[in-house]
Amino acid sequence: MTPPPADPRLSVVVPLYREGSHLSKSLETIEKNVRAIGVTYELVLVDDGSDDDTWTTIKERARSAKEIRGVRLSRNFGKEAAICAGLDAARGDLFVVMDGDLQHPPELIKDMFQTWRSSGANVVEAVKEHRGAEGIFYRISSALFYWLLSRFSGYDLRGASDFKLFDSQVRDAWLRMGEKALFFRGMVAWLGFTREAITFSVADRASGSSAWSLMRLVRLAVNAITSFSSLPLHLITAAGGVFFVFALGLTGRALYLKSVHPEIAQGFTTVIILQLLIGGMMMFGLGVMGEYLAQIYREVKARPRYIVRDLIE
Ligand code: UDP
Ligand code: MG
Repeated sequence: MTPPPADPRLSVVVPLYREGSHLSKSLETIEKNVRAIGVTYELVLVDDGSDDDTWTTIKERARSAKEIRGVRLSRNFGKEAAICAGLDAARGDLFVVMDGDLQHPPELIKDMFQTWRSSGANVVEAVKEHRGAEGIFYRISSALFYWLLSRFSGYDLRGASDFKLFDSQVRDAWLRMGEKALFFRGMVAWLGFTREAITFSVADRASGSSAWSLMRLVRLAVNAITSFSSLPLHLITAAGGVFFVFALGLTGRALYLKSVHPEIAQGFTTVIILQLLIGGMMMFGLGVMGEYLAQIYREVKARPRYIVRDLIE
């Protein structure tokens, strides 16, 4: 392993989707803070197929500052793919991934850099201490998601964010992970290496609104769980086993009753309840298997994670 360079070049990767309304202002703040660290840097701005003036703004800024580079994806591929595109294009030795809406405070980059310097860790992650303004529904569902994920996969990602600083060893390892369904936070946790955490409070969005619909969040959650754990599949097997034992007992009882009282037609309620229960379990089980099948299907197709339309070097 080569020791970290004394004078690393910093690549700040920012995925952007429909951030045009405040991009100039956000970029100014980010640049000011990165410049203050005093190392060579580049800003890799990834336009994730926005339909507003995000790309025009990137082009304009890139003309006036040579540190700014842009990658424009051919359509909206999602944040994780945009991060991947940015990291592929980045040319530094040290990488920072952050949101473009100032919800990841740019002042923190300097602290992360200093923590990296002093601790020698491979990854410095910013952990959410206060989650910012979020609705009660979002809060509950995200708590449920992280609970499920940690139960199923053993990775406790509560408070984890995509705001991270890491070295080229981690970047190369991440880019080498072959899966198409990406979950940046979880995959970086899976990689291991030495890690340090510093906390931050999530600020309010600069402007505009979050591009994550409920459906996309559910997708990300299902993705994260199916790509990090096969426990749900084993649970189906276990549930099937329990039901089988239960069914054997009931069969014995039914046969016995029939032999003692051949004339009775009892147990209507039992039959209905069993029907409903077993039917429900089977549908659910099939659904879970379908999720894994879909995951395999996606991975087997081996399509590229993203397509680049324009590049500003
Ligand atoms: N983003 C992206 N592609 C998407 C959705 C979001 O590149 O399809 C970017 C977005 O521009 C922002 C970051 O990912 O820089 C976080 O998105 P957002 O603020 O919408 O999410 P939240 O803060 O609610 O997690
Ligand atoms: Mg945001």
